[in-house]
Amino acid sequence: MEPGEIFKSMEELSGMSEKERSLIFNRKPNIETFISNVKKNKYSKILILAGAGISVSAGIPDFRSPESGLFHNLQKYKLPQPESIFDLHFFRSNPKPFFSLTREIYPSNFEPTPTHRFFQLLDQKDMLLRVYTQNIDTLERQTGMRGDKVIECHGSYATNTCLTCKRKYSQNWFKKQIFQSSDNVDDNVVIPTCLNCNGIVKPDITFYGENLPAQFGRMYKNDVNEADALIVLGTSLQVYPVAGIVDLVKPDIPRILINRDCVHRANYLGKLSKGTFEISTDGFWFGKKELEKHNYRDIFVQGDCDDVIKDICKELKWDEELNKLLNNKTKSDNNTPDNNGTNIKNAETEESVQNNNGKVTQGNGNDLSAMLDNLSLKNE
Ligand SMILES: [Zn+2]
Repeated sequence: MEPGEIFKSMEELSGMSEKERSLIFNRKPNIETFISNVKKNKYSKILILAGAGISVSAGIPDFRSPESGLFHNLQKYKLPQPESIFDLHFFRSNPKPFFSLTREIYPSNFEPTPTHRFFQLLDQKDMLLRVYTQNIDTLERQTGMRGDKVIECHGSYATNTCLTCKRKYSQNWFKKQIFQSSDNVDDNVVIPTCLNCNGIVKPDITFYGENLPAQFGRMYKNDVNEADALIVLGTSLQVYPVAGIVDLVKPDIPRILINRDCVHRANYLGKLSKGTFEISTDGFWFGKKELEKHNYRDIFVQGDCDDVIKDICKELKWDEELNKLLNNKTKSDNNTPDNNGTNIKNAETEESVQNNNGKVTQGNGNDLSAMLDNLSLKNE
């Protein structure tokens, strides 16, 4: 690609004059202004993009961490590399490590976090367009929020399919299979097998190289055009195509990143001889002085997702409602697919996105954290 195609002037890039750009946040994008806009009901179609970081506080273990002991347990399977667990070819020949891990991170063992409950609040207040989650833990659904508001970009444990004959199995069925024996996780891993053909039954989680659920391909193109604000939480934004959503939303909407690390920053080329400012078309416009100068809509709030969300809710005077939702677990859990076992239609995983853009790829070579970002495991 020619550099000219990547780097453009600010006017060309945003499609807006400087005056128009300055109207979004009065030239000083910050979280206070965003909150004050929320109070004024300025946003009714907030798009959420969430990653592993939002589920860490739910207790979903990080199997890379030596303390969790999970990685140690998996080592005995002599994986060529840790990410082989999610490689379809490896899985067909040796599904044991995956099912062993599954028993450790199985969704029904965890509760939604304040961040998940914040999404539910936005839904209740009719401010939410959609939540795109890279996590497979189904904690968004477990809040009880409307099913059509959540896109599980990399699939989930909610539905399962026989690799051979494609027969579908419910979450309840699958759960019963893998928890048949609870005495010894390491040596007694149960491989769920198809009642029809004896094939391996795999949860509809997107493995590397597999197509994303059809629902993702069907929804995101409209959603990026409709959104009037984007909030990105707890993700390193390295797994594509999901990370690309940040760059696809319209140039005249605010983009907020709530994360421990400043990620997905635009590249800055500096001034050209004719004085035209040039910037990469992809990425947030913060993190570097030269970028900040021209940033009219991107906000970075550094910190733990739950802490930041609680602060935001306090500012919005939503903290009581948030606490109510957090304390009301039993009621909301009635909506989990785990309890009724019939939410298969919501997952719509039977079809697949047919183009190559819909495949899970990494943004950054061999970065292990990127490989694992969609598995609800702690970010770097
Ligand atoms: Zn089968």
